[in-house]
Amino acid sequence: MRNFAAMIEKAILSAAIVAASAGMAARGGELDRRMAREGMVAVGAVCDGVEESLMYSRADNFTGVVLYEGLDSAWLHPDAAVALRKAAEALRKERPDLHLLVKDASRPMSVQRRMYQVVQGTPQAPYVSNPRNGGGLHNYGLAVDITLADSLGRELPMGTPVDHLGPEANIDRETQLVSRGVITAAERANRLLLRRIMQAGGFKPLRTEWWHFNLCTRTEAKQRYRLLNF
Ligand SMILES: [Zn+2]
Repeated sequence: MRNFAAMIEKAILSAAIVAASAGMAARGGELDRRMAREGMVAVGAVCDGVEESLMYSRADNFTGVVLYEGLDSAWLHPDAAVALRKAAEALRKERPDLHLLVKDASRPMSVQRRMYQVVQGTPQAPYVSNPRNGGGLHNYGLAVDITLADSLGRELPMGTPVDHLGPEANIDRETQLVSRGVITAAERANRLLLRRIMQAGGFKPLRTEWWHFNLCTRTEAKQRYRLLNF
C-alpha cells in the first residue's frame, strides 16, 4: 500500500514537473521549447532553491561568443534533475545559507558543434569534446556545470572561475595546489563541499574540472539515453 501511495505521489510529482517545464518552455525561446519536446525538464521546475546563470547565453564565457540563442532555462534529463534535487536537499541540510548555481546543463549537438568550431586551432581546442566522437554527457542532458553561491548570489571562491582551462581546475592534486599557493585552503574546502553535495545526489565528479558533474558514464549514456541531436 505504501508503495502504491509512493507511486501515485511520484506520478503526480512528475505530471507537475512536466506541466511546470512546459510553462517555462512556452515563456522561453526556440531551444527551450525543443528541450521540453525532447523530454528534458526545466531545472527551475524540479529543484527548489537551485539558481541558474547560463554562461553560454552570454559572451563572457571561454569562447568569447554567445552559443545559446533562444535558451532561457537550464534543462536536464529527468534522472539528472532528480539527482540535482537530492543534492540541493543535502546542501539545505548542511549549509542552508548557500545554494547551488547552475552554469550549464543540457547542451544540444548543434551547440557542441559550434563550440568546437569556435575553439578549433586555438589552445582551448583540447578542452572541447569533438562532436564527431558522439558527444559528451552534456549532450544527453546528464551533466551539469555548477558552483555554490551565498544568500546574496555571490559565487563562493573556488580557486578558478568556472570554465577555467588549466591544471588549476583539476581536482586530483588540490593538496599540492594549496601547498604551492595556487589555491587557498578555504577554496579547496569549498570545492570539497560542492563535491560532497553533488555526490550525495548521485553525481560523479570529473578529474579536470571542479565544476563539472556527470550522472553516469558515457557508455551508460549511449546504452540507456538519447542524444540531444538537434
Ligand atoms: Zn561541463
